[in-house]
Amino acid sequence: MFPGVIEPHSHIGIGDGIRDLATETKAAALGGVCTNLLFLRHPEPYDVLYREMKEAGESLAYGDFSFHLVLLTDEHLSSLPKYIEEWGITSFKFYLTYRGEDARMLGTDGIYHQVDGVDDGFMYDCFREVAKFPQGLIICHAEDIEIIRRERKKLVAAGRDDMEAWQASRPLIAEVEGVRRALLFAEMTGCRLNLLHISSQAALEAAKSIRKRYDKILIEVCHPYLSCHADEGVDKSHKFRPPLRSRSDCEALWQGLRDGNVNTVGSDHVPRKLQAKMGSVWSQPTGGPGTPVLLPVLLGEGYHKRGLPLERIAELTSYNPARVYGLYPQKGDIRIGTDADLTVVDLNRVKTVQAKDFEMFGDHLPCDGLEIKGWPVMTLVRGKTVMKDGKIVANAGWGRFLAR
Ligand SMILES: [Zn+2]
Repeated sequence: MFPGVIEPHSHIGIGDGIRDLATETKAAALGGVCTNLLFLRHPEPYDVLYREMKEAGESLAYGDFSFHLVLLTDEHLSSLPKYIEEWGITSFKFYLTYRGEDARMLGTDGIYHQVDGVDDGFMYDCFREVAKFPQGLIICHAEDIEIIRRERKKLVAAGRDDMEAWQASRPLIAEVEGVRRALLFAEMTGCRLNLLHISSQAALEAAKSIRKRYDKILIEVCHPYLSCHADEGVDKSHKFRPPLRSRSDCEALWQGLRDGNVNTVGSDHVPRKLQAKMGSVWSQPTGGPGTPVLLPVLLGEGYHKRGLPLERIAELTSYNPARVYGLYPQKGDIRIGTDADLTVVDLNRVKTVQAKDFEMFGDHLPCDGLEIKGWPVMTLVRGKTVMKDGKIVANAGWGRFLAR
């Protein structure tokens, strides 16, 4: 039995709008997840979207939930006291990749937006303002878009439009440079920073070396980088940002989980159909579903295949994310006074991963076809059984918004 699993990295709302709150939290519960931390990303003031998503979640979600907000505009920045003190939202995402022409992104309303001003000056302000709140946390997508943009231009000019070219357009140096810059901004402003989806040994080492002298640095790994690597080729179902790396990078991340250098494991879950990723690699989106296999990957590929201790898995999936995101002690532990969020697993259950088993919006998983030993068999949220033996047994709307 594990303390209720927390999915710290999910992009709900990108698939089928607010209905994602039902389908994706149901899929999460089928995978043993009790709490979902969801990204809201919007260039307008967040007031309306926050209210809509909170209300939708409380009528549709199967598990508890909270939000991360993406900081994109000066209005967002000046609203920080409201987000933190009134709404109880303490984690803010900063994309190093959203600058210049690359700042075009898909909003929650399905429209591409042009956001100006996401540059180093805005980044300095974001880190500096969030640092004023002790519970505030910047969570960062760290890749240097200027390197990527130039590599991409050369590959496009050479007529390339294949996954190997797409992988090559996002070289290791882009991630390491992005990570080092985010670390510099955190250290110079005194801000807490969680580096999301670290994909390579080099980026992990960069973060570890700064953390020796500045301890407000946290490291997240997402499980696609643990269950997949690029050494045997990648197809469009494996299109992620950062891209999948080598087998040795993958093993270095597992070592980071084992030795405690990695703090949290997420999915970077995106409700997305495989079809949406077909067509040109340069124009079609990245990312895909992942939440339902967050825990199974750690049990099968971690505990059974690599000897990752179960206690460490409990830390990575519950205790640590609860503390990092201000949910502890309500979440993250099994003891008197905490919410009775529990994930019961059968360590000997063997099953092949099939996306269709999870009834989610998306239709693929990064480790589709992988035989995994160790599956959740029961999910309890605040004492209520939500999933039992692979079936949902609670009603939609049991989930509650968590002010942190
Ligand atoms: Zn993400």
